[in-house]
Amino acid sequence: MAIREGKWRCPHCGRVERGANAACQGCGATRDENVAFFLEDEAPEVTDEAHLQRARAGAEWLCPYCDTSNPAPAKKCGQCGADREGDRARAVREIPPPPPVPLAAPAPRSGGCLKWIVVLLVLGLAFCAGLGWLAFRETDEPVMVEALTWSRSVEVEAWQTVREEGWLDERPSGARVVDRWQDVRRTERVQVGTERVKTGVRDLGNGYFEDVYEDRPVYDEREVRDTRARWDVDRWVKVRTERAEGGAGDERHWPELRLGRNEREGGRQEQCLAELKGASRSYRADLGCARWEQLAVGQSFTARVQGGSTVKELN
Ligand SMILES: [Zn+2]
Ligand SMILES: [Zn+2]
Repeated sequence: MAIREGKWRCPHCGRVERGANAACQGCGATRDENVAFFLEDEAPEVTDEAHLQRARAGAEWLCPYCDTSNPAPAKKCGQCGADREGDRARAVREIPPPPPVPLAAPAPRSGGCLKWIVVLLVLGLAFCAGLGWLAFRETDEPVMVEALTWSRSVEVEAWQTVREEGWLDERPSGARVVDRWQDVRRTERVQVGTERVKTGVRDLGNGYFEDVYEDRPVYDEREVRDTRARWDVDRWVKVRTERAEGGAGDERHWPELRLGRNEREGGRQEQCLAELKGASRSYRADLGCARWEQLAVGQSFTARVQGGSTVKELN
């Protein structure tokens, strides 16, 4: 705990005096109760043993009769000889470090700036609301059925051996590991020690100051390594899609499936589309195959259009 000597300003003649001197060398006045000690940034560390003892002796006391500052160990006032009974000791207080100076002066946040931020926010919200309204707005439009098409598709999957890479402990069951090596899986924060940080100074109330320190943990990022691997594993893999399609006059049917060895059917999908001609644009409507079956080319309807592009309903 480094100890450094402070200074005080004589209230009578203005002279800046060493902290260790209880009396002003200029006018002889002793520092009174209202004198505040201050520490200059460049104040050197006190190494002299006599000074250190005085610094550690405690806060000085002020004589109740003549107001003279007396060192803590003194039993009687050095000026008038009075007992220290009823004395007032100077306060020992912590002085926190000055707040860090910002690199750049913060921009003046005038009311005008804030007002513009609010205006931009409101405009942004209005814009989003407008987009939402456009996307979900429903309109009615006369349309004519121009074409009707359908398609049915079946995915074909094959039982295949695939090579994959990953962390060894995450390999699927049945995997046959073909290669393995070490790699960094993640990093973790570990405490590697502590560092002493100066957090302020303590005014010892006798012209000296003591640096105040705190132990703070020091962390380091450490790599955690683990085993990575390549493996072969057998899986159903989508290999192709069989498709059948036609128009309104053709009977809807599923594509003929020719499954090879180790092949199976995956998912099936059916889509029935109506191409509609509107006043200014055409639409592709997916209204489900039940509704599609009731339509015929050349029929006219009123289409309910959402967001200007999606036909929801034909009436
Ligand atoms: Zn003076
Ligand atoms: Zn006295």
